Amino acid sequence: MPIVRFSVSTSRSREVVDITRQVQEAVGSMGIEEGLACICVAHCTCAVYVNEYERGLVADVLRLIEEITTHREWQHDRIDDNAQAHLGAIAIGNSLTMPVTDSTVELATWQRILLVELDGPRQRNVLVSVVADR
Ligand code: ZN
Repeated sequence: MPIVRFSVSTSRSREVVDITRQVQEAVGSMGIEEGLACICVAHCTCAVYVNEYERGLVADVLRLIEEITTHREWQHDRIDDNAQAHLGAIAIGNSLTMPVTDSTVELATWQRILLVELDGPRQRNVLVSVVADR
């Protein structure tokens, strides 16, 4: 099973970055026409999701994560002071499984593959693997 890695440099403490182009290039380089792609971020305070990359919706996603993780006395903050970032990453998830057809992750018209930085700015590593249909 081929695995392609690439890195993304984030520039803010919290932001959403469109990584669709890099993922499609990684999948296209593997020479597998049909199968399943796994897109994974190898971090504890970073996440990935698929949805529309529209400025207002991106702001809403960050606000939602802020609202469900803020204003509490998290135990992890006693040792690392970034419980919010971990909990946001857990809520969104760190991997995606997506169908591959014609050597491309199949996406609907408005769907994009989006990385969520929750404790940046940092360099983030993305792993893309594809399991062939046969
Ligand atoms: Zn931590």
